[in-house]
Amino acid sequence: MSATVLEVKSFGKVYCTLCTRTVDAEVTVQPNMVYRKANLRVIAGQKCPRCSSSLDAAFVVGPSN
Ligand SMILES: [Zn+2]
Repeated sequence: MSATVLEVKSFGKVYCTLCTRTVDAEVTVQPNMVYRKANLRVIAGQKCPRCSSSLDAAFVVGPSN
């Protein structure tokens, strides 16, 4: 038996800590059953369109829509 991982790719607003701007980036959405909300995480390996720095350290502000 293997647990099904519900992980959906989406676009979201992420806050770049280096240029202190909110930019669009691909994020993964993982439903959190315990807290009844979704965990949004930045997909690693993306770059900020403004300052070209890695978005691995950025955090998700919210979904893009
Ligand atoms: Zn940036």
